[in-house]
Amino acid sequence: MNEINSEENIEEKKIIKKKPKKTPKQFPWFMPFMCDGCGDCVEACPQSGIKLLGLDRKVPCAWLIYPDYCIGCGKCADACQCSAVQMTAYVEKAIERYKTKKPFQ
Ligand code: SF4
Ligand code: SF4
Repeated sequence: MNEINSEENIEEKKIIKKKPKKTPKQFPWFMPFMCDGCGDCVEACPQSGIKLLGLDRKVPCAWLIYPDYCIGCGKCADACQCSAVQMTAYVEKAIERYKTKKPFQ
């Protein structure tokens, strides 16, 4: 998990991923208060767009740090055993949220 979640690893992967040409029809909505920090969504994301934040805390949580790369595939929501990620049709609202907010702020 550490290797997958390291800043360097994600940045490196980001370079070889492509941004979608169209805005996805659905987008993940992460709910930090339900997240147990397992990292399954991080591993499931084909775009390497998710990162665990708060690794120095007792329970870190997942957040979509590269929303521009999200293709709306829903694999993060499928991977989450805690129902801490759900797909939403409010895509613009979700994108704005990831660009302006982070958990633990
Ligand atoms: S919907 Fe797909 S591309 Fe977007 S964050 Fe989830 S797993 Fe990654
Ligand atoms: S799979 Fe769910 S519980 Fe695990 S880190 Fe991702 S959002 Fe949190």
